[in-house]
Amino acid sequence: QPLPYNTVLHPGQTLGILGGGQLGRMFCHAAQSMGYKVVVFEPHMASPAGSVAEYEVVASYDDEEGLTKLLDYTNAVTTEFENVPATSLKYLSMQARVSPSAAAVAVVQDRIAEKAFIASQGIDVAPYAEIRTLADLEQVPTTLFPGILKAARLGYDGKGQARVKTLDEAVEAFKSFGEVPCVLEAMLPLKKEISVVMARGFSGDVVTFPVGVNTHINGILSSSVVGIESISSIIEQKAKDAAIKIASGLNYFGVMCVEFFILEDDSVVANEIAPRPHNSGHYTMNACLTSQFEQQVRVLAGMPLGATDLLAPTIMLNILGDSWFIDSQEAKEPDWDKVLALPGVHLHLYGKAEARKGRKMGHVNIVNKDPQQVLHYARQVSEILH
Ligand code: ADP
Ligand code: MG
Repeated sequence: QPLPYNTVLHPGQTLGILGGGQLGRMFCHAAQSMGYKVVVFEPHMASPAGSVAEYEVVASYDDEEGLTKLLDYTNAVTTEFENVPATSLKYLSMQARVSPSAAAVAVVQDRIAEKAFIASQGIDVAPYAEIRTLADLEQVPTTLFPGILKAARLGYDGKGQARVKTLDEAVEAFKSFGEVPCVLEAMLPLKKEISVVMARGFSGDVVTFPVGVNTHINGILSSSVVGIESISSIIEQKAKDAAIKIASGLNYFGVMCVEFFILEDDSVVANEIAPRPHNSGHYTMNACLTSQFEQQVRVLAGMPLGATDLLAPTIMLNILGDSWFIDSQEAKEPDWDKVLALPGVHLHLYGKAEARKGRKMGHVNIVNKDPQQVLHYARQVSEILH
């Protein structure tokens, strides 16, 4: 039988996480610092999370034997990866607490279901059409061009997407994706991108983190800025309200992120949902009273949620593998000593064996009471790493 929601798991017990990437690794660190043990379930050996967890099960996500083995270690499982098959979450949920639930993750892992769900909650999304066949594509209104064709499943960091100016380009892109189900979205004039990271506990209690402004380069998050660039409190509240509505509509328990676009006319459009901590919430590790990963631990354990106050203005900068190839063809370790010489800079590296261009290797949080100092040191970090 799964754990009743009101059962609290105390430190010393073992929590489970599906996925062994950097998000899983930071979950492990948060859990371990509170005295929990962690079991990581991940298909590959020597993963960022697997190498720091107390226990590890290496198996593919749909391997029942592996999932059963996971249940030998723990009766509470969360995820760091939205593409875990919903059937596997369902299987685990017969014997364990699984948060977020299979049903919630199933909606979020399919852009078609996700967009329809968000719109059903009365929240604006970009104008879009579901594309399942070439015939669907040939019928889309011309107002969706220029647009972005996005594969419904398994996209991340701008992968599985094509910017298309015309129907002909869209047809070509759809074919190159292998005619898998897609959404075609109108390209919107973005003024800013923001995200709301929040946590919802088993009693329906909700906390939201301060809203950060995100910048992307080549479809990959590059930076999040919090407490410096002002966003109007009306926009911030609108985004938070929408995120909370989405979470309660999904009957969601856990940490969730909703990405929003702010358009030229200040309207707020929901882009996508992540059923887990998010890259744009990494700033919380050094800038908030509770980090997004500690919050994930607290929800899963049935503990009270932590306070989310911002302690100081902060910039989070992602570190990609490109920083290993600044002036050489062969991978060379960046000048970490120079980075760490700057005040208020916190380095987080994910323990990935090989640096590759475009691969997320870590991030730095630059924290300072004075927003001008944050900007100043962020520029210096960028100069060292780029
Ligand atoms: P991913 O899963 O790769 O994060 P997103 O849907 O968030 O996919 O798209 C990645 C980025 O592409 C967004 O952060 C935004 O910068 C840009 N983008 C996506 N959709 C649109 C759109 N409809 N209009 C303008 N820009 C968009
Ligand atoms: Mg995104």
